[in-house]
Amino acid sequence: MRPLAAHYDRVQEYPWEIKKELCDAGLMGIWVPEEFGGAGAGVLNLCIVVEELSRACGGVGVLYAVNALGSFPILVAGTDEQKQRFLPSVTSGEKLIAFGLSERDAGSDAGGMTTTAREDGDAYVIDGAKKWTTNGGAADLYTVFAVTDPNSRSRRLSALIVEKGDPGFEFGRVEDKMGIRCVPVVELNFDGCRVPKDRLLGGRPGMGFKHAMMTLDRARPGVAAQAVGLAQGALDYALAYTTRRKQFGQTLTGFQMIQQMLADMATKVEAARQLVYASARMIDAGARDITSGAAKAKLFATNVAMEVTTNAVQLFGGYGYMRDYPVEKFMRDAKITQIYEGTNQIQTLVIARNLIKKASQLDHLAEYMPLPDHENTLANRAEAKPTA
Ligand SMILES: Cc1cc2nc3c(=O)[nH]c(=O)nc-3n(C[C@H](O)[C@H](O)[C@H](O)COP(=O)(O)OP(=O)(O)OC[C@H]3O[C@@H](n4cnc5c(N)ncnc54)[C@H](O)[C@@H]3O)c2cc1C
Repeated sequence: MRPLAAHYDRVQEYPWEIKKELCDAGLMGIWVPEEFGGAGAGVLNLCIVVEELSRACGGVGVLYAVNALGSFPILVAGTDEQKQRFLPSVTSGEKLIAFGLSERDAGSDAGGMTTTAREDGDAYVIDGAKKWTTNGGAADLYTVFAVTDPNSRSRRLSALIVEKGDPGFEFGRVEDKMGIRCVPVVELNFDGCRVPKDRLLGGRPGMGFKHAMMTLDRARPGVAAQAVGLAQGALDYALAYTTRRKQFGQTLTGFQMIQQMLADMATKVEAARQLVYASARMIDAGARDITSGAAKAKLFATNVAMEVTTNAVQLFGGYGYMRDYPVEKFMRDAKITQIYEGTNQIQTLVIARNLIKKASQLDHLAEYMPLPDHENTLANRAEAKPTA
């Protein structure tokens, strides 16, 4: 991948030859259980593959990981028939899959989407548009979220499996992006798109928002792993460069300030990696509460990626700012990890909400720190004390 990364970044085309290598290596769909054609390798191994791919090219990292994002809704909520029907072609690499949740006016507030899926006989009819679908155009399968009950607050959305070529389903604008340029990000347009009812995820309407959140909980460690790989890849290049580049008669690594930067970068990358692996292990172990761990991993690792890749550019000096050198691409690729699958502001909200929800478990600490009592403050007590 390293010799090809700059080329695909420049031409902004899907690297089919790399995808073929991923298939030949048996890496597609490894997170899917064996009964549906996967390797049953879970989220931890998915993360390790994404990390290693992103260490060479962040675009390839997401090109691979987005298939997990697209297939998790089927895994967590699909009927057995849907799993048997759709997952084996994803695990063989025959078909790519994408995830259509966001819309032009509904990003962080995904529940505010306006694309509708109306029941009509034996089908749902989808009308509306999705924004920024990664893998769009390249993928054959799409998990698409739409409003099935506009009058409900909690059961408003449902997910449907849409196939490339379904009548009324077209691809719109292809985005020109800052980073991850080898993977297409496109608009999906639905104009009276008829989808048979057996493609309603889980066979029951109204569960879409829950399924989207369950999916993101399982997919966010993958974005965090992409960030770790990007940070590690940039650090690798920075180390290789600073040990060879000479200024003032010595290599850059001879300067303590440079050593400090490298040590700090390496420590943060390792901390991020361990947080990502811990969150993935919790998911694989079937832990009930995985939301906060996934959000923490994404928040921390993607911030580390931004910091470390920016510092790598700094360590290359002026050369780092040039397209002739690989590190500026790492910095561009890293930025998106702080945005997609929930921005880092949204991750912060998720973490804070989970924390506060559990605060009652700490009520026993009240014994050691009574809340300030204005009637009975120390100052009031001192004032009330009779003077001698
Ligand atoms: C390259 C790329 C690929 C993508 N791939 C996919 C994909 O495959 N599938 C898919 O469904 N979507 C995808 N997305 C969409 C992505 O998930 C959204 O862009 C993201 O969730 C943010 O939504 P938004 O862009 O509408 O920003 P907005 O929601 O408008 O947010 C704008 C800013 O406001 C902040 N903000 C919003 N709400 C709050 C709040 N309550 N508190 C504090 N701050 C807040 C945000 O953090 C952000 O900084 C992709 C996006 C990009 C750019």
